[in-house]
Amino acid sequence: MPQPFVTSAAARFLRYVAVDTQSDDQSQTYPSTAKQLVLLNLLVAELKEIGVADAAVDQYGYVMATVPATAGKDQVPVIGFVAHVDTSPDVSGANVRPIVHTNYDGRDLVLPDEPGLVLREADNPELAEQRGHDIITSSGSTLLGSDDKSGVAEIMAAAEYLITHPDIPHGAIKIGFTPDEEIGRGTQYFDVGRFGARYAYTLDGPTRGDLEIENFAADAMTVTFQGFNVHPGYAKGRMVSAIKLAAEFVHRLPRNGLSPETTDGYDGYVHPQGIQGGVERASIKLLLRDFVAEGLDEKARMLTDLAAEIVRPFPAASVDVVRQESYRNMKEVLDRYPEVVEHAKTAMKRAGLTPRFRQIRGGTDGARLSFMGLPTPNLFAGEHNIHSRLEWTSVQDMDKAVEVIVEICRSWAE
Ligand SMILES: [Zn+2]
Repeated sequence: MPQPFVTSAAARFLRYVAVDTQSDDQSQTYPSTAKQLVLLNLLVAELKEIGVADAAVDQYGYVMATVPATAGKDQVPVIGFVAHVDTSPDVSGANVRPIVHTNYDGRDLVLPDEPGLVLREADNPELAEQRGHDIITSSGSTLLGSDDKSGVAEIMAAAEYLITHPDIPHGAIKIGFTPDEEIGRGTQYFDVGRFGARYAYTLDGPTRGDLEIENFAADAMTVTFQGFNVHPGYAKGRMVSAIKLAAEFVHRLPRNGLSPETTDGYDGYVHPQGIQGGVERASIKLLLRDFVAEGLDEKARMLTDLAAEIVRPFPAASVDVVRQESYRNMKEVLDRYPEVVEHAKTAMKRAGLTPRFRQIRGGTDGARLSFMGLPTPNLFAGEHNIHSRLEWTSVQDMDKAVEVIVEICRSWAE
């Protein structure tokens, strides 16, 4: 039997979740909340403690640090590992009391602050893979913060492991901790050049073995109907209500597919997300999602044609359609650097895992970084039921993630 890979990840994790790092999408500052800096500064102090001498936090709150290459490995491509410290604005992250449920055996896990809140294997099929493991939950009144403090703790533990095991060959390893991922601003001021890595990995995924190399391509669209308003008492034959045009447009969107409620896997959708207006003018905000850019074009064409069809019978009405790019599928970039994914696969196999490819039905900081010139797939961190009071992670999965990080470093150095 090989030695189990026991690291400092869980102990670090329990320390980090005690710090409230909720981000705030209403804030105009960067980072959006000053409390994120408490953890970011703590991480700098801890990095220095384990011997990462150049660890520093910049004016935006980004922590960057370097584990230097081992002897003779200066020519190995510089690899980075990135995780975010903030937690979702949707659920409180204040006074988190993590609970370690040791040796999980399939039993219901009751969260003491809210006895009605029970983590059951029946509702969480992924728990079945966790028999014998130690599961961490919150006490029931807050989220746990495994998204993404699991990733933070794993990267920290891996850095410590590499420093205390100089016999493991690796090139220079860059560490990046970011604020404000949950509000979509995690990479806003991230300086890829200063970070200095050629390729990177985010640790921000769910199940052990998960390797995420593709995410939605996303656009936003605003469809604005211009109607014609007159006094309703004298409107016969003249008024054209923009409210009714907008309602007709929504009504005629596809029913059996192409919507968030009716799709999963690789299927994209169009999603009316907001509507606003009056008789004179009404506009609808839509989200367009697909895994390929042509799929987005098709959806945009379909919506534009539908909007034109709606106003056609009304010469006094018109419609204006504005399409805006949100983000693109990182696969477009990663396909040009297959070695990034190959090393992750090799590392997972060495850690005894079967890599599982999963597509992200959303965006990810790694996608933004990939298009900023830093190809960055996403690896599992062991986070489940994210943005929920039923969030959980597993001590052994965290150790596995550390092992994968170490093996990625070793694989690149070979
Ligand atoms: Zn996350």
